[in-house]
Amino acid sequence: MRLLIVEDEAKTGDYLQQGLQEAGFVVDLARDGRDGLHDALCIDYDLLILDVMLPGLDGWGVLRGIRAAGKDFPVLFLTARDEVDDRVRGLELGADDYLVKPFAFAELLARVRTLLRRQGRGREPEVLRAADLEVDLRRRRVSRAGQRIELTAKEFALLELLLRRQGEVLPRSLIASQVWDINFDSDTNVIDVAVRRLRAKVDDDFAPKLIRTVRGMGYVLEEPACG
Ligand code: CA
Repeated sequence: MRLLIVEDEAKTGDYLQQGLQEAGFVVDLARDGRDGLHDALCIDYDLLILDVMLPGLDGWGVLRGIRAAGKDFPVLFLTARDEVDDRVRGLELGADDYLVKPFAFAELLARVRTLLRRQGRGREPEVLRAADLEVDLRRRRVSRAGQRIELTAKEFALLELLLRRQGEVLPRSLIASQVWDINFDSDTNVIDVAVRRLRAKVDDDFAPKLIRTVRGMGYVLEEPACG
């Protein structure tokens, strides 16, 4: 689950990002409306947390922009003003829920989980995606840019793991235990070889590159931030 927070107040943004990361989400943070809209249009988020009062482009402008682009992920907006007008406006513009500042983090987390559940986004997905890469878990089929890609069982398991934990750097030891069901102490070469083979199939002939080596740490699969 990947969430985007658009919040210009540094303290609030950092606090929410950290809290939601600890709750197990991958969380991006945009500090103004224009950046927020840009990010929301280029990455397929599961949910957006949107502050209303933002410099540049306000929350309403962001909301209008994403709905006009046909993005249907749930939007929870944060308003500092406890005004009925604000709430009505947000819901009319296509937001799904709102919270009035100040709020307790537990309340925010509960709303986020409810929205994700309501949208069916908390359910086990049948197809995992990143950019134009698709992995159909039921049919066990992989394609990129519409082209079918044949993977071995291990490569499939490796790709599935990387996709399920998109945006997280996965240490070799974790990959070893999850995909090979063994603990590798020192010889992690087998992981590197498998990742290299997987990349040759899903990344080499395509853009953007999705699987990245993080030196000294492991591997991560993520859509690169937009340019
Ligand atoms: Ca604000």
